[in-house]
Formats: sequence, structure tokens, C-alpha cells
Amino acid sequence: MGGNAILQPGQEATYANQLANVRRSCSVLARLAGQGHRLVITHGNGPQVGNLLRQQEEAQAEVPPLPLDVCTAQSQGFIGFMIQQLLRNELAKGGHGHSVVSLITRVEVAADDPAFGNPSKPIGSFYTEEEAKRLMTAKGWQLKPDANRGWRRVVPSPRPQAIVEADVVRQLLELNQIVIACGGGGIPVVRQEDGSYTGIEAVIDKDFSSFRLAREIQADVLLILTDVEHVYADYGRPEQRPLTSLTPSGAAEYMEAGHFSQGSMRPKVEAAASFAARGGTAIICSLDRADLALSGLAGTRIVPETAEAASYHQ
Ligand code: ADP
Ligand code: MG
Repeated sequence: MGGNAILQPGQEATYANQLANVRRSCSVLARLAGQGHRLVITHGNGPQVGNLLRQQEEAQAEVPPLPLDVCTAQSQGFIGFMIQQLLRNELAKGGHGHSVVSLITRVEVAADDPAFGNPSKPIGSFYTEEEAKRLMTAKGWQLKPDANRGWRRVVPSPRPQAIVEADVVRQLLELNQIVIACGGGGIPVVRQEDGSYTGIEAVIDKDFSSFRLAREIQADVLLILTDVEHVYADYGRPEQRPLTSLTPSGAAEYMEAGHFSQGSMRPKVEAAASFAARGGTAIICSLDRADLALSGLAGTRIVPETAEAASYHQ
């Protein structure tokens, strides 16, 4: 589920607003569970973790600030709680007995990921140039000017290598639980030489982590629910047209031709194409049409290259 499932652009980030959005999203998910689909839910956390970071900064004279990996864990707990509660309520209405569990999920990234040399993901508050320079020295943060709105902290966005809790997700599925995992892309951790993990201050793209998790649990379908009904060619132009079906190579052609924006649709198409390239079916569609899309009646499907591979996985 994309960020819109939790907070719509322009809405104030009150708990009531977020609950109302999550309630709507959960009624869709409950319908899918009611149809017999076994769900693992992943979700975004952009505005939520941004606000948690701001709270750390604003309150630091009174309470020591917590690092980004901890804020990501907090956002997983807070959003997971909302989904867990509201999805369970929706399921109960329909007489369904599944339980719902949210899992604080760590995602392993490579210590030598090139992203660490080029922090690119803006997070948290905006600062003046003067404040930005002070923070760079005082905290060792990297800050960059952000489109006329001031300076902003940037963190690396490394690629997910493995979902540390994938086994637990699998075991919970076996117990017929609905699992919420990899919130906000997961908490990035690096594996040390002795086999232990350390949390790091970075963010992982949730579309990439969702692909990785889907693959590790051998999901049949990777369903990417967002706020547009399809992936479009020439998006936002008069000649815009919906793409209803793509193969990984077709997706790559559109990608190279620049049809998908870097920070939004592109990671989804990349994740979907990677999933299809390994034999699965990926669907990108709007949240409210999830069940239609699963039946092949809405959204954009990304399917394996060959018809044989496609029918094998149906
Ligand atoms: P999410 O929170 O679900 O990850 P994003 O905002 O990151 O949502 O991505 C969805 C957005 O991608 C859409 O609202 C749309 O504005 C944008 N977008 C960019 N290129 C395309 C495209 N080619 N087709 C559809 N949407 C696109
Ligand atoms: Mg996004």
C-alpha cells in the first residue's frame, strides 16, 4: 500500500485523518482476504517518519533525539497498529476469523552499496543554509538545497538484499495469519563480520523491499496499490494512455524512454518487472480496484515474457 492509503496529499497528519484513510484501505484488504487470498501487507511511511523525525528535532532540548532507524521502527509499529486494528475489525464484520499481526521488519543492505557514497533521499524538516551548515558539522549529516524550500537532510537509499524476518513471515502465513511487514521499506541493517546486524540511518524504497519479500516468501502475485488506476505511457500529456499489460522487456523499453518518474512510478515498474522476470505476476493499480485487478479487470499487469511461463503461474 502506498502512502495515500494512510494519508492523502495535503491532508493534515492527524491521527483521525490517518485512521479514516486506513479504515477505507482495510475494507479493500478485508474483501481480498474474504475471497480467500492470503495476504502479506507492506506499506509506505514517508510523511509519518518525516513527522517523527521532526518531533525528535523540536523536542531535543527536553528529550534526546532517536536516530532514523529507530524512527522507522516506530512508524512500522504505529502504522502496523492502525492496520492491524482496523483490518481485524473489518474481517470480524464479514465473519472472517483470520488474525492480523504486524512485524517490525529489518532489511539487509550491502555495506558497500553505491548509495552510501551518494545520499539522495530527502527526509525531515527544511532548514536555512546557516542551520544546514551547522547541522552538517554538529551531527555529521548531509544536507542539500531542496527546490527553493530550503535545505534538507538527505540519506542514502540502498537496495534491499534480504528480508531478515522472511522466515518468520512464512511461518506466520502457515498459521493463517495476515502479516504486515516491511513497513516504510523496512529498517535498513548491515551485517557485520561476526554475523550480527547493525541498524543504519538510511531509507529503503518500499517498492523494492516489497518485491524482495514477495520473492522470498514465493508469493504468486505482487500487488502494488497506489493512487492511479494504471501505469501510463506519456503520463500527464494529452497523448497519455493506460498500459494494461507489460512484460519485463516491454517495461524496460518504456522505462528507458523515460515514461516513469524516478521517485514515484519507476521503482514500482522496476519491482514489478523484476518479479515477472522470475515467473510471478505483478499488478500495479489503484487501491479501490484491487479485487478487480486481481481478476484481470483493472490495473496494469506485468507478466513473464513467455506465454508458457505465464500460464504456469496462473
Ligand atoms: P506511492 O505512495 O503509492 O508509492 P507515488 O506517489 O510514489 O505513490 O507513485 C504514484 C504516482 O506516480 C502517481 O500518483 C503518479 O503521479 C506518478 N506517476 C509518474 N509517472 C507515472 C506513469 N507513467 N503512470 C502512472 N503514474 C505515474
Ligand atoms: Mg512512492
